[in-house]
Amino acid sequence: MELEVKTFTLGPLENNTFLLWEKETKQAVLIDPTYEIQTVIDEIKARNLNLSEVWISHAHFDHVIGILLLLQSFESPPRIRLHKADLGLWRTDAGAQSFNLHISLPKDPDFFFTDGEKLKVGKVEIEVLHIPGHTPGHVIFYIPQNKVAFCGDVIFHHSVGRTDLPGGDFETLITGIKSKIFNLPLDTRLLCGHGPETTVNEEKKNNPFLQ
Ligand SMILES: [Zn+2]
Ligand SMILES: [Zn+2]
Repeated sequence: MELEVKTFTLGPLENNTFLLWEKETKQAVLIDPTYEIQTVIDEIKARNLNLSEVWISHAHFDHVIGILLLLQSFESPPRIRLHKADLGLWRTDAGAQSFNLHISLPKDPDFFFTDGEKLKVGKVEIEVLHIPGHTPGHVIFYIPQNKVAFCGDVIFHHSVGRTDLPGGDFETLITGIKSKIFNLPLDTRLLCGHGPETTVNEEKKNNPFLQ
């Protein structure tokens, strides 16, 4: 059984927010709540989903800016998961200062991801892979049953995440992509934090940063 997946492309940076749910049980998680999150909240309510958790690929402001409204919109608010190595970023305006912006975030996350950890949405298993380099605590989410990985800002179609922001490191990023993403089956779809989706095969062959 696969999870249902809906992609929302929202906001000035064209962020992708992903809603995942199991059809039978209506168990749901949301990955990277960005700008204009009301659209997603409406969808969750219209489908009568039980949103238990919000998973943050990394703590940059454009991937977390929707959290406050999201938490205020549900009687039992979803809990938040992040990798601990991004907690510093989370606590300092999610890096918004680098862009002369200010955002407010709620209290610290409720849980922390660990590398290789397996989580579940309903009965479907999701693997967490820690791939630092864009930020110290960046994780991606791999669902073998869906043949899909949610990659945040680690890799894009024919590109990779920027490494010039605080905590970034180019060599670390490239090593992580080659050892973890390129280890996934070739036909795995890569759903990125911005822009169009791609596949492991396509990036192995044609990504200029990864040859
Ligand atoms: Zn980012
Ligand atoms: Zn981003």
